[in-house]
Amino acid sequence: MSETKLLQMSNITKAFASNVVLNGVDISVDEGEVVAILGENGAGKSTLIKILGGIYKADAGEIRIHGEIRNINSSAVAGENGIRIIHQEIVLVPDRTIAANVFLGREPKNKFGLVDVAEMERQTQKLIDDLHLNLRADQMVRSLTMGMQQLVEIIKAISADAKIVVMDEPTSSLSQGEVEILFGIIRLLREKNIGIIYISHRLEELFEITDRIVVLRDGKMVGDIRTKEADRDHLISLMVGRELSSFYTKNKHDIGKVALEARNLSHTKLFSNASFTARYGEIVGFAGLVGAGRTELMKTVFGAYPKSGGEIFLDGRPVDIRSPQDAIRNGIAYVSEDRRGEGLILKNDVKFNMGLVCLSDFVNGIHVRDKEWNNMVEDYRKKFSIKITSPRQLAGNLSGGNQQKIVLSKWLAKNPKVIILDEPTRGIDVGAKAEIYSIIDGLAARGACIIMISSELPEIINMCNRCYVMCEGKITGEINETEFSQEAMMALATKSE
Ligand code: ADP
Ligand code: MG
Repeated sequence: MSETKLLQMSNITKAFASNVVLNGVDISVDEGEVVAILGENGAGKSTLIKILGGIYKADAGEIRIHGEIRNINSSAVAGENGIRIIHQEIVLVPDRTIAANVFLGREPKNKFGLVDVAEMERQTQKLIDDLHLNLRADQMVRSLTMGMQQLVEIIKAISADAKIVVMDEPTSSLSQGEVEILFGIIRLLREKNIGIIYISHRLEELFEITDRIVVLRDGKMVGDIRTKEADRDHLISLMVGRELSSFYTKNKHDIGKVALEARNLSHTKLFSNASFTARYGEIVGFAGLVGAGRTELMKTVFGAYPKSGGEIFLDGRPVDIRSPQDAIRNGIAYVSEDRRGEGLILKNDVKFNMGLVCLSDFVNGIHVRDKEWNNMVEDYRKKFSIKITSPRQLAGNLSGGNQQKIVLSKWLAKNPKVIILDEPTRGIDVGAKAEIYSIIDGLAARGACIIMISSELPEIINMCNRCYVMCEGKITGEINETEFSQEAMMALATKSE
């Protein structure tokens, strides 16, 4: 056969001590092809990529580039072979310009041996312009949004002769607009015949941008499917190894009277004149781009930010909420988007974290109601199938899905009337996502009023009864589920005045 692939990894096997994390994995990428690696946490995706990047050494298997075996035993060798890996963590220097970051460690020099700043900026600007980005090479990285910083990582990766670009969960910190920019970049790379490996949990994205999807489960390749022929439920069942009856759960519930209402709620800087209602048994979405003011609005309802004007009503009566304690006393819960920073105390154990909101019920002076506390932990462990080895396990070591279930348990133990969920499934595996959706649906079925901020439009469309859309600190529209569409939401999300 004369046809050779740009990249062919064959029979890749790797164990850490006795733990076999990759078992005979084959994956290939053609020139100009975008291949997804899909798999739950721990499936072995990053390990496979680190082998390609020369960070880990495989126990068996081979890597060929254009048919030739390459011994990629260091990241320098990976680099020489045109392999560029964009890791999830941003490693830019914030107090330097974009150009300085792009050329870090390989700065062009002038005839005096000094860094040629003008040349560096000229070359960087050319890269930026080629990618049609609205950036200036001399801008400080610190001044950019997280999403834009991620795009600078990508410019940096492709600035030197790249053949294969790997992106490990690139969109987790991008807004919808930035995702579109990223996809534009990927299409340009594809036209330049660069091969791309794209790792993501977000199925919708894979359908939009990839040519082929390789599924890993427990270190084995369980599927290699053309995206055109792929079916979402089938992919999910391959990934989780069992049939999920459905990904989203949306049962019909009785929708009751208005639980929470905001009238002309304003903040000095972050949002203004926000008015909305949310009913018992209803799931109300808040869609918008990252930075639209949704989190700030909800943190104000929750008393974490001061309002500069407007009123909040619960059950039709005005309430004065000046702190999260006031909100909790009034039956409002807020599940933060920043699970690791605000939702959990990572260095404490599961039991401690689950008890946090109800601490005063469990601990009264020196008297600890340990039995009740343990029962509560055990109840939620069973109810939400939380995978822990013991209630004493540290929260920081759990997967995102299990952490989110713990945060939910912590709030639900207090029986809140209104539950505000801020990006409740961000960074969570599909299997666990489906479980979280079912938990959310169950809460609404039991009459709770749910507000769900989400930047994933399919999540809003498939879970909510109604949604509001925000743009630049204003509510720009309200849509009923019968009228839901991504187009309608995007139009309102970008409708600035
Ligand atoms: P994914 O990226 O798909 O979430 P990883 O490749 O990070 O999965 O991990 C696969 C498995 O390998 C996990 O069980 C993980 O705990 C284990 N693993 C990853 N890196 C190491 C390491 N350096 N030492 C020991 N075990 C590791
Ligand atoms: Mg990983």
